[in-house]
Amino acid sequence: MENVELYEILGVNKNSTDAEIKKNYRKLAKEFHPDKNPEAGDKFKEISFAYEILSDPDKRKIYDRYGLKGLQEGSDGFGDASEFFSHWFPFTAGHSHAGDGGGGANSRARQAAQVVVKLEVTLEELYNGNVSKPVEYKRTSFCVDCDGEGGPKMSLEQCKACNGTGRTANYSFMGAFVNAFESTCPSCYGRGTTIPEASRCTTCSGSGLVEEEVKHEVPIEKGAPNMSKIVFHSAGNQPLVGERGDLIVVLVQAEHAVFIRRQNDLFLRDMRINITQALCGFIHCFQHLDGRPICITNKPGDVIKYGELRVVSGEGMPLRNNPFERGDLFVEFNIDFPDDNFATEDQMHLLETLLPPRQPFTMPEDAEEVVMMEVPPYGEGSHAGAHGGMDDDDDDAPPHFESVQCQTG
Ligand SMILES: [Zn+2]
Ligand SMILES: [Zn+2]
Repeated sequence: MENVELYEILGVNKNSTDAEIKKNYRKLAKEFHPDKNPEAGDKFKEISFAYEILSDPDKRKIYDRYGLKGLQEGSDGFGDASEFFSHWFPFTAGHSHAGDGGGGANSRARQAAQVVVKLEVTLEELYNGNVSKPVEYKRTSFCVDCDGEGGPKMSLEQCKACNGTGRTANYSFMGAFVNAFESTCPSCYGRGTTIPEASRCTTCSGSGLVEEEVKHEVPIEKGAPNMSKIVFHSAGNQPLVGERGDLIVVLVQAEHAVFIRRQNDLFLRDMRINITQALCGFIHCFQHLDGRPICITNKPGDVIKYGELRVVSGEGMPLRNNPFERGDLFVEFNIDFPDDNFATEDQMHLLETLLPPRQPFTMPEDAEEVVMMEVPPYGEGSHAGAHGGMDDDDDDAPPHFESVQCQTG
């Protein structure tokens, strides 16, 4: 970019409109794209840089005011860039900016090489631990046939877009602040070398990488939370340049027929007792997640009300970091009432002597007595059916926990 004005690079002038700049940029970018025109890597870099500045009204204003005459020095070396900027734009506190940019690019690269796999686990497995399950997933590895080079070593050529460094300098502007950072050369994907089409390795089509299917055993920790992530360092994708990324396994807890889990607590699903049990006591038995038979007893006279929540302390999930401690088990009661005409009139009077007295009432003289009927279920009655009523199918669907994007393991 020796002493070339950004406007000239794009073949426009200081008075050109945004549309003119965009039009010229598109034309030139097509013409000089490294895929089509590998000789013109530098030219492409210039065009992209010029457009990045001139297409942004703020950046363009800064350029018009301050110019970018010294930028070439910065663009040659990453280390020099921050010095350059702290000189030209002292308010950027330049020393940390370039460093941050580099770190960001590194962590972005590591993230790109990550493989995220979903693993479904049962509530029993999370309760008991001491078990491992395999995940199968795809990842990239170096091609064995060309040693990851993409072709015979002797045919490698230095990448013309980055002069073999594999990195290109970029600049981002935030208002009046200029930030320099490096990014991977788009022409050689950071390798610094390219291979002529005729000599490319046929196994990997010259990419140097192949996809392989692998299996990994994942230990399931007692009390691990739903959606917890287990990281296996360097078991993910091998990028062309740099270290292999991580494998991240996300534990997705399966629905359970008997229990619902909320963090360390368990809730017994669909607990129904009848009115006799609610008033006169009951014993309810079920099998816990470790196979133990558990019986909940409620003494006669301890009345359970409709919708009441009770708790059995210490019968929830084991805590992840302290498996000897456990959360609680909650039980919410639904109470079934008897069917119509379950008793004779005499029995009813007898029952009434046992139950709390009715609320007193006085009927006004001109009262109109009306009869109450049962409401027909949706879809059958006159007020619901005509237009299909409510489609409540979806409302019964269990909640979904899949909120992450990942491969199915
Ligand atoms: Zn190969
Ligand atoms: Zn390159």
